[in-house]
Amino acid sequence: MLTSDRTSAMQVFQPIQLGQLKLQNRILMGSMHTGLEEARGGFEALARFYADRAKGGAGLIVTGGISPNRRGVLKPGGAKLTSRRQIKSHQIITKAVHENGGKICLQILHGGRYSYHPFNVAPSNLKAAINRFTPRSLSTRGVKKTIRQYAECAALAKESGYDGIEIMGSEGYLINQFLVSTTNKRTDVYGGTFENRMQFPIEIVRHIREQVGADFAIIFRLSMLDLVEDGSSWGEIKKLAQALEIEGVDAINTGIGWHEARIPTIATLVPRGGFSFVTKKLMGSVKVPLITTNRFNTIEACEKALQEGCADMVSMARPFLADAEIVNKSKTEPEAVNTCIGCNQACLDHIFENKIATCLVNPRASHEGKWPLDAKANTSKRVAIVGSGPAGLSAALESARLGHDVSIFEAASQIGGQFNMAKKIPGKEEFFETLRYFEIMLQKYAVDVKLNTEADAAKLSEFEHVIIATGVKPRSWTIPGANASEVVNYIDVLRGDAKVGKRVAIIGAGGIGFDVAEFLIHHETDNFFEEWGIDQSITERGGLRKPLRNAPRHQIHLFQRSEGKVGGKLGKTTGWIHRLQLKNKGVETHRGVDYQFFKNGKLTFNEAGSQREMAFDSVVVCAGQIPFAPLAESLADGGKTFQKIGGALNAKKLDAQRAIREGLEAAYSISEWT
Ligand code: NAP
Ligand code: SF4
Repeated sequence: MLTSDRTSAMQVFQPIQLGQLKLQNRILMGSMHTGLEEARGGFEALARFYADRAKGGAGLIVTGGISPNRRGVLKPGGAKLTSRRQIKSHQIITKAVHENGGKICLQILHGGRYSYHPFNVAPSNLKAAINRFTPRSLSTRGVKKTIRQYAECAALAKESGYDGIEIMGSEGYLINQFLVSTTNKRTDVYGGTFENRMQFPIEIVRHIREQVGADFAIIFRLSMLDLVEDGSSWGEIKKLAQALEIEGVDAINTGIGWHEARIPTIATLVPRGGFSFVTKKLMGSVKVPLITTNRFNTIEACEKALQEGCADMVSMARPFLADAEIVNKSKTEPEAVNTCIGCNQACLDHIFENKIATCLVNPRASHEGKWPLDAKANTSKRVAIVGSGPAGLSAALESARLGHDVSIFEAASQIGGQFNMAKKIPGKEEFFETLRYFEIMLQKYAVDVKLNTEADAAKLSEFEHVIIATGVKPRSWTIPGANASEVVNYIDVLRGDAKVGKRVAIIGAGGIGFDVAEFLIHHETDNFFEEWGIDQSITERGGLRKPLRNAPRHQIHLFQRSEGKVGGKLGKTTGWIHRLQLKNKGVETHRGVDYQFFKNGKLTFNEAGSQREMAFDSVVVCAGQIPFAPLAESLADGGKTFQKIGGALNAKKLDAQRAIREGLEAAYSISEWT
């Protein structure tokens, strides 16, 4: 089928009406905090950020969460909309979006007990496990005042030029805390029975509708699967949805899982669009459009959910960081979409580190003005890139995009470097998409890819600029006996070149040690929902049931020499998943270990002041990396100018995020550009 025939037949590209708001397609760019909301010059940067996504085809954009009052901000200095003085700043955003043919709603989010500051409030003074601040319980007057503040915030949003608002009623924030009996112990009209507890969101919607009139969209993000003990029952969720419809919401978006839930909901191991069954269950119970969400990263996955009757619209957030043009490209050149791999490394992890959210596969995100996509080098040069890992691929693509004549030398028979390892890890298969993207883009920009080709000084002499991106090599393990036949390195294991026995020691508990453990414990029949105890029939409160797990294939012990928490340096928003996953599969961890020797299949080591000996069939070395740049010396000797990037430059704290960003920076550093 021709691309145009294919896309015109797709539901996802059909217009849809949200109340009085007509949308060109059924893709919503979901709410995502970027950190620009609070940054100096942030509104201008946000305007550029959202304008690019509007131009890229998003049917509707929802902003990051903005608090309706001082107490609801997520952190000190967090964004709020409480005064007419702020309207001008928001108009910068709404104007930019409208000028680019888009529509935008402001999300109103009150953090309740999740607000990370000492002035937080909640239905009851019960501290959240993920916050160190205990909230103050709102008085009845305080509740009523908060409801009015939601409505005032919505009115200010309307004055600012937004097309509507989304009320954040899920993920465990304030509204969710009112709905569930474990967080709402009130004895006034907002506590007790579910009818009383749901009064809070009902009155919020009623007051907002009164304030904003009929010609302003109200979306309610409803927690349809809390994934916490004693969360809402399906009957309660349905009752609330129907009551919200009566109060005048124009659409209901789906919320999955409270932030304190110990079940992954958006990480890469969640199957694509895996939670659409939840929204589907509500289809037919209300007449307003329903929006499904979580781990959609391709338009095809969105289309599938619509075809299967799971929802009327689909929300994606992070995929718009990865590629601002995901919607438009999916119509004309779907293979050129830079796909979100669900890693959280540069988006959510950055937010938790108080940094501006960007994207591992697209470092331009949130920095739209810094490396313009349409920039051209003032002088085109012959550029050689040595190595086609993430750093080299990024440098090659960006140099070619700038108009340089680029060749890339790769000693292996395929591009990708360490990405070829990563994509073998269960739950990390999405790395395949990044390789597909680079492969297509290198073709598009006519990069000469020289596979099975070792670069040398002679070959590189004809190039005006050389970028060394030869990456890293594994650090050796040097204790006596480390050369025994049972001792293998992680590359051989992931490639399938080394046989691994039943009892396994993994030396090194960094990102790769964890990856290898996950690779070894994975069972082909592992089922995400069963393993994490998610009740897909949603008959149990909160959607939880007893987990069902396959017996692990290996008995694994994970070792590190340092004393810190094992896996403590993994990403903020995904580290807990990796740690829990290994614990659930019986992996034992050892820290503060002093390796002595490996002899006759036994590892001797000191731990907690005593010497121990354990028998292992295999020992897999994941002891970190060292830079690999064998060419650098000969080039330097020959007086050739070159630059190193990625692991070849510095293997410490290397990850794909840094590698891809350094490739981009290197390309823009080659010559002047405009
Ligand atoms: P890493 O994160 O630096 O971990 C290396 C591990 O090896 C540490 O646990 C270290 O712990 C141990 N080690 C270091 N020197 C050693 C030695 N001489 N003998 C024995 N053990 C030694 O490196 P990696 O695991 O190779 O990962 C490479 C990069 O990829 C990292 O930057 C990582 O963040 C990234 N990555 C991230 C993920 C993820 O976030 N999920 C996954 C894969 C890779 P001790 O020194 O305490 O023994
Ligand atoms: Fe997606 Fe990772 Fe980019 Fe976040 S950093 S948008 S999860 S690819």
